[in-house]
Amino acid sequence: MSEFVIERIDVFQVDLPYAGGVYTLSGGREYRSFDGTIVRVTTNDGLEGWGESTPFGSTWIASHALGVRSGIAEIAPRLLGLDPRRVDRVNDAMDQALVGHEHAKTALDVACWDVFGKSVGLPVCELLGGRTDARMPVISSIYMGDPEDMRRRVAEHREAGYIGHSVKIGGEPAEDAERIAASLADKRPGEYFIVDANGGMLVETALRMLRLLPPGLDFVLEAPCATWRECLSLRRRTDVPIIFDELAQSDASIAQLVADDAAEGIGLKISKNGGLTRGRRHRDICLAAGYTVSVQETTGSDIAFAAIVHLGQTVPERNLRCLLESRDMVSIKTADGTFDVTEGRVTAPTDPGLGITPRLDVLGEPVATYQR
Ligand SMILES: [Mg+2]
Repeated sequence: MSEFVIERIDVFQVDLPYAGGVYTLSGGREYRSFDGTIVRVTTNDGLEGWGESTPFGSTWIASHALGVRSGIAEIAPRLLGLDPRRVDRVNDAMDQALVGHEHAKTALDVACWDVFGKSVGLPVCELLGGRTDARMPVISSIYMGDPEDMRRRVAEHREAGYIGHSVKIGGEPAEDAERIAASLADKRPGEYFIVDANGGMLVETALRMLRLLPPGLDFVLEAPCATWRECLSLRRRTDVPIIFDELAQSDASIAQLVADDAAEGIGLKISKNGGLTRGRRHRDICLAAGYTVSVQETTGSDIAFAAIVHLGQTVPERNLRCLLESRDMVSIKTADGTFDVTEGRVTAPTDPGLGITPRLDVLGEPVATYQR
């Protein structure tokens, strides 16, 4: 191969206000705006690749926006001069520069995949294994609130074509049972419901909540408790299908999930799981285990969503449950591309790389630049 190396890395910061006002999660957590980091990798021949990492505030998992940019400051100088197409080797270099901090590595990793795709004229999903024929369903995100209001918001999304709904709970057991019953009250055949506690329940409250539910409700329970032990304990005492999210972040945790027979699937979030290189591996471990996979993000704008659709497009339809339309959550558009959601479904762009054109006027001037 002739020399094709990373010449320059620019970092941009964008405030992404939550589109729905205030987003509420278990434990009194509230979110009004998200701090997004967008990275541009430029190669020696002038090709550009883009990636994004936008944590869900600093109270969801151990990631935060200042940490993304500090992590990039540790890592970026070590990537200059590397071939961005050798994505596993780029990740080796990132791991040598900084242990953990997957959220910081994500934007850089995704930007390498984007420039890799452009360099060979192929969309990222083709490089990740090849696209399926799936028109992928996107999932709604129904924040925790009054049961009847949650039912109304599910209905709104149903009206817009959504067949998957992520219903947030994590309060008092009786109220949570009402939230679930109301959200599922108008369920139609073929609809898929995730009840997501974001780690907000104790085993005790979860067991009480499950006993208060009317029988026969069809849902999976995501991230019931905060710790591995509690989730396993609950699992041993209920027949509700369990999905891991916050606790499934790494090669080791997903391997352990399979070893413990602790779940039926995972929510694979690109920045939580460390980008597309690691996401590809997590996808494959899940497929080998017969898991379902939802491809999502902590949150994020158009560039983050592009990474979601490319990885999602490579998960066999039988295993793929849904994608998160992260763009729904933010009120600013950072890039354009042909991956609109129509009737609740989306397919990956066919243009090379991620298939996006960033809006440079929205990104403004870089907040940091690393150059060879
Ligand atoms: Mg979740």
